[in-house]
Amino acid sequence: MRFDILTIFPDFFYSPLREGIIRRAMAAGQVEIVVRNIRDFTTDRHNMTDDRPFGGGEGMVMKPEPLSLAIIAARNDNPGARVVLLSPQGCVFTQKRAAGFVAAGGLILVCGRYEGIDQRLIDRFVDQEISIGDYILTGGELASLVLVDAVTRLVPGVLGCGDSAACDTFSRGLLKHPQYTRPREFEGEAVPDVLLSGDHDAIRDWRLVASVRRTLSRRPGLLVGAGFDEREIKILQREGLWPEVEKAVNGGADE
Ligand code: SAM
Repeated sequence: MRFDILTIFPDFFYSPLREGIIRRAMAAGQVEIVVRNIRDFTTDRHNMTDDRPFGGGEGMVMKPEPLSLAIIAARNDNPGARVVLLSPQGCVFTQKRAAGFVAAGGLILVCGRYEGIDQRLIDRFVDQEISIGDYILTGGELASLVLVDAVTRLVPGVLGCGDSAACDTFSRGLLKHPQYTRPREFEGEAVPDVLLSGDHDAIRDWRLVASVRRTLSRRPGLLVGAGFDEREIKILQREGLWPEVEKAVNGGADE
């Protein structure tokens, strides 16, 4: 999986790409991440990447020419890549979209700044606009890092334990169950007995119930995508949770 990140602040990426799982994935050749300075694609004497908006108004707008040249160069090295503009006006980024991007194989991420980007560049060069939430950042750099991080951990082989992404929150319409580690008692609170029992079936059932309870109380709307099998339904019935789950699924509870 190859990412080309187009930015006017390449130093922004120095540390985040040199830590943890992303660094390991790059070292192992599982992902390639190339950061390109949009300023390198300017053709004027002052290396201008922005200019005043036509029609007046505050702020500056990113010029289309340097960005178009940067995208063309990235496409040459990352053929077939999808061009994604990070934008508060785009579709909201989700775990499902992250998985879709892995399947795409290559991404060119365009980081906006100032008041945004000339619309003609977006119309002609951008395949998709993605937002990381309903708030305004100063630039697309942080948003692109969020996307790189979430997509990288889904690239096959990147996570140490093959299953860990499959059990994550959002992977099947459930929030993940609570987790505990040593010590067995903290501030007078003990770890639930079942987790120390060594009974793997009981632990699996406890985790399912804890996960469903948590999802019902925090994000009931997610349960629409949970898809419980017969064994799970029996457990939830036994715990008296099934009517509430059915209501959330059929009633289309708010997320
Ligand atoms: N004036 C623009 C508007 O109202 O839609 C906002 C521009 S914002 C200050 C500058 C850049 O930050 C955007 O072009 C985009 O690349 C990035 N950005 C800001 N908020 C974002 C978000 N929630 N998700 C993704 N990118 C965002």
